Amino acid sequence: MSIILDGKATSNQIKEELAEQVLALKAQGKRPPHLAAVLVGNDGASLTYVGSKVRSCQKIGFESTLIQLEDNITQAELLATIEKLNNDTSLDGFIVQLPLPKHIDEEVVIDAIHPDKDVDGFHPTNFGKMALGMKTFIPATPFGIMELLKRYKLDISGKHAVVIGRSHIVGRPMSILLSNKGNPGNATVTLTHSRTQNLADITKEADIVVSALGVPNFLTADMVKDGAIIIDVGITRVTDANHPKGYVIVGDVHYDQVKEKASYITPVPGGVGPMTIAMLLQNTMLAYTRNAS
Ligand code: NAD
Repeated sequence: MSIILDGKATSNQIKEELAEQVLALKAQGKRPPHLAAVLVGNDGASLTYVGSKVRSCQKIGFESTLIQLEDNITQAELLATIEKLNNDTSLDGFIVQLPLPKHIDEEVVIDAIHPDKDVDGFHPTNFGKMALGMKTFIPATPFGIMELLKRYKLDISGKHAVVIGRSHIVGRPMSILLSNKGNPGNATVTLTHSRTQNLADITKEADIVVSALGVPNFLTADMVKDGAIIIDVGITRVTDANHPKGYVIVGDVHYDQVKEKASYITPVPGGVGPMTIAMLLQNTMLAYTRNAS
């Protein structure tokens, strides 16, 4: 039986800490941090994510601005919006919610965001700094996982960590952070992906598995070793007629099976998801602090 890594409770604690910092700023007559989010189109999941980011800002006293654009906006128009946000001195940071419509090149868009305002940590400058272990904005999902490990005082130094998935926003930065010097950190990392052969042989050797591929119930009990730490990043909407929303959220990990073998495990929902939002807010506070100094 495993201990649950409670991302909801931990993220609430982080948000309370940030709310206290905002109160202290206001008491000194200063303005609160300000985050903007750009949403292109009407994708249901993206609307949900952006909605909860904006609500979280409001809860802790950050200012927030939501910029909603039609999904037929041209790339040039989107780049013009980004340029305006780059130059808006009332803003500390902004995000462009991914994925973008197919006719827009995500790489070009990310590259257009000023690195000092890139609180998602996706810009090549910030990604490079992260890889070098320099202080910068760290992509919120892997940052949230590192923070969860830290707050639960889990020592991963010298341990074998296996990351499943090599996306630029989760898997690859995760593999870098786990191996970077620091606490948590110093792990020996294997980064696996869709071309990896004999994946189960690799995950069975892992002291910690971070699963970020987006296939429901992919990681089963026979793929993990006793006492492993299991981090489930996956969020997939699976149709369920019995649920009022018509779907349920399912993680990559076969939770009921794996929780019997793991030492620590993140649930879905209530694990990595809420931590992601908390760390976006933390990055916004970092941007604010840099602006203020
Ligand atoms: P992605 O689709 O960009 O990347 C998936 C990765 O999984 C790829 O690198 C691919 O090589 C790998 N993969 C696919 N099939 C595989 C297989 N059979 N074996 C091994 N590797 C395989 O996904 P992403 O953006 O990194 O997201 C992954 C999952 O995490 C999705 O479910 C997404 O919704 C979720 N997610 C959650 C959060 C959060 O806050 N919890 C944040 C971002 C993404």
